[in-house]
Amino acid sequence: MKISAFHKQRGDNVRFIKGLNKEVKAQMWDRIYITTLFSFYWNETINTIRYYEYSIQDPQNLFIGGPMATLMSDEIEKETGYRPVKGLLNEKRKLRLPNDYKVDSLVPDYSILEQIEYKYPASNAYFAHATRGCIRKCPFCAVPKIEPFYTDYIPLKKQIIMINEKYGEKKDLLLLDNNVLASSQFDKIIDEIKEAGFYRGAKLNNRNRYVDFNQGIDLRLLTKEKMRLLAELSIKPLRIAFDHIKLEKEYVKRVEWASEFGINNLSNYILYNFHDTPEDFYRRLEINIELNERLGTKIFSFPMKYIPIDNRDRKHKGKYWNLRYLRGIQCILQATHGVVSPQREFFHAAFGRNVEAFKKLLLMPDNYIIFRENHKNNGTADWAKIYDSLSNEQQKEFHDIVFENQFNNGLLSKYSKINILLAHYKVPKQQVSLKELS
Ligand code: SF4
Repeated sequence: MKISAFHKQRGDNVRFIKGLNKEVKAQMWDRIYITTLFSFYWNETINTIRYYEYSIQDPQNLFIGGPMATLMSDEIEKETGYRPVKGLLNEKRKLRLPNDYKVDSLVPDYSILEQIEYKYPASNAYFAHATRGCIRKCPFCAVPKIEPFYTDYIPLKKQIIMINEKYGEKKDLLLLDNNVLASSQFDKIIDEIKEAGFYRGAKLNNRNRYVDFNQGIDLRLLTKEKMRLLAELSIKPLRIAFDHIKLEKEYVKRVEWASEFGINNLSNYILYNFHDTPEDFYRRLEINIELNERLGTKIFSFPMKYIPIDNRDRKHKGKYWNLRYLRGIQCILQATHGVVSPQREFFHAAFGRNVEAFKKLLLMPDNYIIFRENHKNNGTADWAKIYDSLSNEQQKEFHDIVFENQFNNGLLSKYSKINILLAHYKVPKQQVSLKELS
């Protein structure tokens, strides 16, 4: 959106495309910019570069940028021959045009979003930064490599006024800061957000306005005073990460403060498949349920699977995890649309009544997890009956097979019970119907 704004200032025409488009490929363009996101989209990204590379006269004018291009520039160059543009567009000559160092500070061109059929969530929101980068270097995070320098303060009000002038007023405010709490000017940022019309209870045309620090806030820097200031905003939801069970005490305290100051809608990123265990993952979800019951909060948990920032697929397996458990969680989340309900009843239905039930659920065939109701009396009950009757030795053998998510490749066990159990995994996968998921 910022690159588009930059070109339009120069009087150029801009066309925005999501994915592969035959009509666009058939034309000859002066410049093509391809943005990248996660490294596990490696194949799609390389295919996209290949798809458009003959739609430009001068190969120098095909630019590849964004997070993955920054983290894996050598690999991309080796694969495609194009040298990606790394990092932010705040330095000269990255796009080989006069004033190209200003791109990062431009008001995004919202109008390009109308050029595609896909509707981005939060399309009626200001996108802005009050800070850039982060002071920390968490090993699972790409921010320290993409934005290595922390910028303490970026005037916010000015950005909002400029968006108003160009594209009209927006209802909500989406702040993309990686670590706003690290700013020494946090109080000033809060004042600016309020002055921009996002104070607690704010409305626009009779509709509630919301502020969302979309990347979450750093609980280790969240003091009670900062929570009080956040509560002066129309914040919804307040997003906090709960990355490890060791942070339980600090996390619980922050949620208690949020509740004390009247912030009841929270969202919680739960990192898993990193240094955590399946037991600790379940426990973190359960802590949120307990907090909701005790404080009356509504915490929606969003489990986020750890994948190393330069992995070309999503197959990474953490030290305490196995492929079957990871697949099982994916199946549960498929049925819940990626969110964990704040209510105990729904949480138990989706993840099991306790950690043992949870681990047993993860072992089941995909269909039995996703289409729980359909298979309750037709498959699941038989599977569970046999599984519960396995001896320790049989259970170990069964786990050794199933944990690899491979199902023995047709080989038979000397135990008939194990063979019967494995047959359950051979049932063809059902198509996910939206009706069943809703
Ligand atoms: S605090 Fe957040 S943004 Fe900063 S390095 Fe850690 S995970 Fe990344």
